[in-house]
Parts: sequence; C-alpha cells; structure tokens
Amino acid sequence: MKESKCEHCGFWTNGKLEKCNYCGGILNEAYHAEREQLKKAEGMKIPFIQIHADDHWFVKMYKSVFRFGQLVFFMIITFLAMIASSTVH
Ligand SMILES: [Zn+2]
Repeated sequence: MKESKCEHCGFWTNGKLEKCNYCGGILNEAYHAEREQLKKAEGMKIPFIQIHADDHWFVKMYKSVFRFGQLVFFMIITFLAMIASSTVH
C-alpha cells in the first residue's frame, strides 16, 4: 500500500484515497488542481482571429498566416496535453 502524508494534519494515510482518513482533507490537492486546469484548457474555445470581408488584401493575407500559425500552435498544445495526460497514470 502506497502511503502518503496528509498535507492538512500530517498523518500518514492511504495514498490511493482521495481524502485523508484522519481529517477528511483532500490529498494531493495540487495534483487535482492541475487536472482541473487541464480540463478547463481543453474546454476552452480557441480565440481565432476574425477575417473581415472589407479588410485590405494585405491585412487578409497577414491574418490568414496568423490564423494558420494559431491553428498549428493549438494543435501542438493539444498534442502535448494528450501526451501529458497519458503518461501521468
Ligand atoms: Zn489529514
């Protein structure tokens, strides 16, 4: 049995449990907070830049390149998040 020290009361308790046997405090709080953050990031809408019909051709071109860059960037982030979540276990 993997034991982990409770951050709240200092007693050693079953590390597989979500809550401390002694004080009921949440174990590995930082880890759970990080998981929550990841979930939020996945549900986050990608703030894509808008291309307007009346934009100058140069602005349109610039925005297209920028948007492609954003797409690639978010694909890499998603890919990294997938790797991170699959290696955690
Ligand atoms: Zn405790």
